[in-house]
Amino acid sequence: MKLVRFDGGRLGVLQAGRVHDITALVGDDPAQWPPVGMLRLIRSFAELRPRIEAHLGQSAGVPLDSVRLDAPLVWPHNLFAYPVNYVLHGEEMASPNIANKNGFFLKATSSISGPADPIVLPAIRDADIHHECELGLVIGKGGRHITRETALDHIFGYCCLVDVTIRGKQERVMRKSFDSFTPIGPAIVTADEVGDADHLGMKLWVNDELRQDANTRDLIVDIREIVVMAASAATLEPGDLIATGTPAGVGPIKAGDTVRIEIEKVGAMSLDVIQGQGGGSLAMPA
Ligand code: MN
Repeated sequence: MKLVRFDGGRLGVLQAGRVHDITALVGDDPAQWPPVGMLRLIRSFAELRPRIEAHLGQSAGVPLDSVRLDAPLVWPHNLFAYPVNYVLHGEEMASPNIANKNGFFLKATSSISGPADPIVLPAIRDADIHHECELGLVIGKGGRHITRETALDHIFGYCCLVDVTIRGKQERVMRKSFDSFTPIGPAIVTADEVGDADHLGMKLWVNDELRQDANTRDLIVDIREIVVMAASAATLEPGDLIATGTPAGVGPIKAGDTVRIEIEKVGAMSLDVIQGQGGGSLAMPA
């Protein structure tokens, strides 16, 4: 099943090009603060699923192009991210920060944006801002000290994710945490629909140029171990989001570009890149 948020936080299911509104069915209030309806839906999905499926049988839905898709998930308890997690990307960056040795880092959850939102570049002097094409992983069942044997039981689903990054010497967390630096979407596709996530093709274009073309089979820390490693340190919660690391081919983006990400069985989204105002600071002067 493909779960979306749309038109200001309504919850929906995307099926055959139509969006079916399940906001009332699952008892969510899109106006609530914080906007955690999707987190609640993920936590209670097994229980709600039969009612959602029955609703899909009766609902006409509306065409996908008649709604505005929001980020399918906001306000996760944690947004984990893995550094260099493909051998070829490690070589291109000449980076010693390989995920199997360094572990994960965190991005600000406020950096999450949706498939209809632009990537807004901060006004920072000589900023070298890169795209990173990544598979986004969403936790379903929480827990800590998870083993490889049970890791897949904790995964709710997957989405496309671009880990936008300013290259530089400043703290990685800050360089990756500007608003709109974690576009996700267009939907969260449940793990049962994706199937084997260890062999997913993924591509990213900037305008018409194919920049990244890889497959999750080449992950250094694989899908199961990504969950194990995160849960070795932190208690995972339903709706936690994990950026699984980028393959080779990262490169600069500039205002006016369009970034397109496509992941097999997960979906695709195209994002406009625009120049924003502000964003400079002592650490990164304007
Ligand atoms: Mn990354």
